[in-house]
Amino acid sequence: MANNLRERTIYIPQMSYVAAKLMSAAFESIGVKAYPDPDSDNRTLELARKFTSGDECYPELITLGNILKVVYSKDFQPEKTAFLLPTADGPCRFGQYRHLLKKCLKDLGLNEVLILSPTSSDGYNGFGEQATELQRVGWWAIITSDILRKLLLKTRPYEKNKGETNQLFQTSMDKLYQVIATPRIGLRKKMHLLVKTLFNIRDQFREMPADYRRDAKPLIGLVGEIFCRLNDYSNNFLIEIIETHGGETWMSDISEWVWYTNDEQQLRIIRKGKRFSKEMLIAKLKFRIQKFDESRLWAPFKEDFYGYEEVKHIKSLMKNSEPYLPQNGALGEMVSSVGKSIYLYQKGADGVIDISPFSCMNGIVCEAVFPQVSLAYDHFPIRTFYFDGTQNTVRQDVEIFMELARNYQSRKKQHRQYPAYFK
Ligand code: SF4
Repeated sequence: MANNLRERTIYIPQMSYVAAKLMSAAFESIGVKAYPDPDSDNRTLELARKFTSGDECYPELITLGNILKVVYSKDFQPEKTAFLLPTADGPCRFGQYRHLLKKCLKDLGLNEVLILSPTSSDGYNGFGEQATELQRVGWWAIITSDILRKLLLKTRPYEKNKGETNQLFQTSMDKLYQVIATPRIGLRKKMHLLVKTLFNIRDQFREMPADYRRDAKPLIGLVGEIFCRLNDYSNNFLIEIIETHGGETWMSDISEWVWYTNDEQQLRIIRKGKRFSKEMLIAKLKFRIQKFDESRLWAPFKEDFYGYEEVKHIKSLMKNSEPYLPQNGALGEMVSSVGKSIYLYQKGADGVIDISPFSCMNGIVCEAVFPQVSLAYDHFPIRTFYFDGTQNTVRQDVEIFMELARNYQSRKKQHRQYPAYFK
């Protein structure tokens, strides 16, 4: 394994806590001690600002700040620490995170620290000798974290006893962690245990007292930049605010990005003239296995997620966004955000908020095309909210947006499909 990872503790960036926690379980399962990066708070920004110039995007600041919290912790041992920091090609500043961290560590004289950076250009293949097992189990961690988040978001707004969904979410996460982290049980058995655990989690969510009533709550789709969207601190705890204002949310999954990068990887292979090559065969095989695993893990929720289904293939999001942002001319999350907004309209949502770090090109481009999208789809409310750690008008902005959403809900033509347990 690359640079003796087993002798180090690896820290995983906390886009979403549940995903980082379950991903750390995937590392544990191959014998590597792993933890999510610490939670974000004001100290995160304070530390990051000591090493940044102001040109960095907000997620870069938060990611660096959380890593620095580890670096400045009492027991920090540079030679026994590694930071996972995936990277990507292209214009996005994500590709710069690694270089910035490297420079910080060098300035601090901490060259022994290992930075582990798989890249999106190879579909994140580069994890050393146990890459295959880690990739497979890591994928299960992503899928199960998406499932758990969906359960949380679709249940909490309707709970009868405040706090119960959060508690159940926590215990469910712990159960999944235990299964994923178990070493040496073989992939087949682990998948079997995971599915069994998911059935159990599903039943517990079903039993939780809740008042599910149709059209009681405007459904707000959340699209946009992956980090800012999933990291509650970065988006000023937007979901909580929407729920306080009587809404329900539908967040774009992490796996959506994985499907997108896989699709881009195949397009790159075709552009290189290698449509019929070993490289393409491997990419397609990986796609098939990931799809197969995904369908097994989602299977227990077929009835519960009726009306909440994700797209069958990422290409349909690309197709939705084609008239506004053609996939051949536009890259990255802007394409999936626009495509997903249209998909959410089709699923009967009552509005979409695009969560964007201030100054991020994705949000800026989306904001430019959203008025046309809204016009083409019955004046469906879509707004871009920008975040940089300084804004204090989010509550008012949500209040205004919820009014728009309620107004749209009362006149909409695309109606929601509800699971059977909704009255
Ligand atoms: S998408 Fe925007 S905010 Fe996210 S890493 Fe890239 S530049 Fe930064």
